Amino acid sequence: MTIERLSAPSVVTLPGAARRVMLEVLLNGPLSRKEVAVRLGLDPGHVTRLTQSLIEEGLLNETDEPNAGSTGRPSRPLTVTPGGRHYVGVKLAPGALHAVVCDLSATIVAETYHELPDNDPETTVRILAEALREFDDLSPLALGVTLGAQVQHDWTVQVAPIVGWRQVDLGRLIETATGLPTIVTNDMIALTAAEHWFGSGRGLSSLAVLTIGAGVGYGLVSNGRIVTNADMGLGLIGHEAVSDRGQICPQGHRGCAMSVLTFSAIEAAASMALGHEISFDDVLELSTQGNAVACAVVDDAADAIGSLIQRIATLAMPERIVVSGEGVGLAELTWDRILQTVSARRPPDSTNLDVMLRRIEQREWARGAAVTAIQRSMGASVTDAAGS
Ligand SMILES: [Zn+2]
Repeated sequence: MTIERLSAPSVVTLPGAARRVMLEVLLNGPLSRKEVAVRLGLDPGHVTRLTQSLIEEGLLNETDEPNAGSTGRPSRPLTVTPGGRHYVGVKLAPGALHAVVCDLSATIVAETYHELPDNDPETTVRILAEALREFDDLSPLALGVTLGAQVQHDWTVQVAPIVGWRQVDLGRLIETATGLPTIVTNDMIALTAAEHWFGSGRGLSSLAVLTIGAGVGYGLVSNGRIVTNADMGLGLIGHEAVSDRGQICPQGHRGCAMSVLTFSAIEAAASMALGHEISFDDVLELSTQGNAVACAVVDDAADAIGSLIQRIATLAMPERIVVSGEGVGLAELTWDRILQTVSARRPPDSTNLDVMLRRIEQREWARGAAVTAIQRSMGASVTDAAGS
């Protein structure tokens, strides 16, 4: 398959070594020139010349805080220049799109939210292009778009059940409408990329992200790279068996993660047991009041989260596991029980897991999309997150 597409303007116009210096400071800075030289195994004089070029290009600058070097000569660590270069990230969801503009450090500098009258791809792209005109004065360099979908070549949506799309040439439609170099990725890849480069996984070579909400999501970084394959976007972890109870999921499984953990599963289980409709938030609230039905539903979900964490730790062996997503309040509420479930399933001599909760706002999915554009323009493919 030949793909004709706009290429993202490279942030680093200098070849090889300059890009490595830039990436090192972006991912691990602030760093002194000497630290950069040691980390990259480069000659210090070479690094000094490269950093001078990067400073002149407005990509790096020196921090205001001088550090005393080992020779006593003060050095001013290098950091990425805030602002200046801008990237757009768009999260597409049923009936709405959220767009942000980030600088090179993935700091959000502008955002907008638009409702969509329907989920037709052409309507979506038209409104997306109109929305992005709000950012014209920031002169964005590239665009990342993300959605719950199986995506081929960071470009074509193979299948996106949540909006009912199949074989949509989304990258081409968006580039034609916006004129911006565009990358399209699955939303868990984008969120995981952002966590790895700029979030709780910064500096780690392996990381797992588990999200709870309308669905169950999973992203993995191993050896500095996002792990992906043709099935990424199918929501496979949602169909892991985690319980002998629960509703029946749309694919006919009883007790899979989707049938126990999602907003709709929790609402359905509690509504059935209580005899009236109840929202996810109200189930959590009722459980804090000691309501037996709500507590049982919430505890089943907590045990399912614990089971998934234990499985991820055992099979993928990441340095850190992050639990996040719109439904993370469930994990916050039941964190002690979750950790007990995990430790009960691990041998007593096993190490303590590095597992943490991370509450995110809706806009962070869009920020993840912007990070995929940043990675692309840094010359790192999204699934080559270390940039090597
Ligand atoms: Zn299932």
